[in-house]
Parts: sequence; C-alpha cells; structure tokens
Amino acid sequence: MCQFLYHMFEQCSHCIINVAEYCQVRKWMAGIKRQLQPCPETKYMISRVVDRGEQWQVISGTCMACVMQPGRNAESAPPASQGDLTGTTIPMRPAKSMQDQRIDSLSPIPPEKPFISLPDLTATLPELLGFRDKLHDKTSLLFDDITFPARIMPYVEQTKSSWTMSAIGSPAPLESYFMDNGGLLVEDRKSIAAQKLWKDEKAIWE
Ligand SMILES: [Zn+2]
Ligand SMILES: [Zn+2]
Repeated sequence: MCQFLYHMFEQCSHCIINVAEYCQVRKWMAGIKRQLQPCPETKYMISRVVDRGEQWQVISGTCMACVMQPGRNAESAPPASQGDLTGTTIPMRPAKSMQDQRIDSLSPIPPEKPFISLPDLTATLPELLGFRDKLHDKTSLLFDDITFPARIMPYVEQTKSSWTMSAIGSPAPLESYFMDNGGLLVEDRKSIAAQKLWKDEKAIWE
C-alpha cells in the first residue's frame, strides 16, 4: 500500500493529503500503463463516516497550493512558506455543529475537502517493473527515464481516472521493443543466436 501523510497548514488552514511513497505494485502498474495512480486513500475517507481518532498534523506556513497560487490567500497574508511540524494535531473529522466550533474557537477547522498532493516520480522501466537488479549495467543504460510530474489537486473520491498522473512524452522506441519482445533485449537475442551457432558447430564435430 502507498504511504500517505496528513498535514494541515497553520496559515491557510488547508489540509493536504501527501502521498509519501508509492508502493511497488503501483509502480509496476505505472511501468505497464505509463499512468501512475496511488492506492485508494482510506484514513480520511473512513474518518468522514466513523470517528477513529485520526488526526491532521499541523505544519507552520502555507500549503504548496497557496505557494503556487498566491491569489488564493487573503491579500494581507504574509509571504507564503512551508514550515515544520508544530507538534499540534487536530481531529481529521470536521466539527459536527456550530456549538462544537464555539467551544474551541481557537482551533483551526479543517475544510470539508482537502487537497491531494502527488509527488513526482522519475524511474526507468526496469525500475518500475522491479527487475533493475537482473540487468547488466550496460543493458539498463538503454532505458530512458520515465517521468510522472507532481500534481496538487482537490480531493476526489477514488474513481478509475482520479488521482492519476500520466508519464511525460511518448514511449521510447526501446520500451516498445521490450514490450513487444516479451522481455528479451537486443543483447538477449544476440546471446541466444550465439549459443545456437555454438550448438550447430558442436553438432558438426560430434
Ligand atoms: Zn500503493
Ligand atoms: Zn493553502
């Protein structure tokens, strides 16, 4: 399962669900489909139905969404910056009623929907498919990087198309070759041909 971090920013009160790490299964799928989609997020999703005591970690400064679009903030807001964990946490579940909010009016109230932040991922096809260690250095150099650019987007329920990043650029010719040849590389073919040749010669002398 992919790892998520749950942050609330002190200055803008935006909540961000960060994908801290993509799991190997999703990376593998990204290698096949050239689309990177994290595992379904569950903590926040479930917290809206059942209160399990999940919490947002409060961070000083403003979120990346506000850093990139300063117009979103109040004009009087100080320069946007991302700080450190303040050590405070607030419940993930929004306060139920106005009365609850009045009781603790100093606590920031998380917005109804957070942002989801997907970090970029750059890897080669053998890395994504998990067989980098089975290749010679010379062979692995043949594969170009595949880049999935970072994205920040409003939280949407997991559907087939949501939370997905497509790889930049078209598949490198070698990748197509690789997919078409069931995992055999140019070197493999040469090696097979050489062995076959050796066998033929051996047959002549036996
Ligand atoms: Zn995952
Ligand atoms: Zn923000």
